[in-house]
Amino acid sequence: MLDHRHFHKYLSRADIETLVHDLATRINRDYEGKTVVLVGVLKGSFLFMADLVRALTVDARVEFVRMNSLGKTKESPGTVVFAKDISTDFRGKHALIVEQIIDSGRALKFLYDRLKAAGAESVEVATLLDKNDKRLVETPVKYVGRKTKDQFLVGYGLDLEESARNLAEVYFLKYPN
Ligand code: 5GP
Ligand code: MG
Repeated sequence: MLDHRHFHKYLSRADIETLVHDLATRINRDYEGKTVVLVGVLKGSFLFMADLVRALTVDARVEFVRMNSLGKTKESPGTVVFAKDISTDFRGKHALIVEQIIDSGRALKFLYDRLKAAGAESVEVATLLDKNDKRLVETPVKYVGRKTKDQFLVGYGLDLEESARNLAEVYFLKYPN
């Protein structure tokens, strides 16, 4: 069972709706007259993806990928591999990676390079949350909902050992000292 006593509200429904609306406004403007393929990173992005894509008025398509870090230890970041690779032909298409949160940026860089190699006309990144202080691998992130410090967040797609993804709002975890 999830113990909610240490969950503290970080983003309310209204906060999320505002962030999604503002990102969608920019994306609609930037991709006007174009077709964009949103590439959602599973599992965390599924709710953000669903909200963002419904706020778009441009011709938008969806694709999903899932990545795993193999051989990850405290000392080594391991190697990123696809558990589910892209299955869209990206040649001549605009790709927009949709992330829930970006931390080290390792998985993001791997996906960015994959989409470039697949012949995408352009590759940009949209994330709801950005822990930019924690970045180890740089990839340009054009659309950021909110910058956040290094704290553990759950809900709205973000998991606590696979639970809590279904919560409609985002919480930070804080345990009493
Ligand atoms: P990275 O940017 O280090 O390659 O990986 C980011 C991934 O780490 C996210 O997609 C997410 O799965 C996980 N992650 C990073 N920060 C948090 C957080 O605060 N809460 C949760 N639940 N997952 C996180
Ligand atoms: Mg996780």
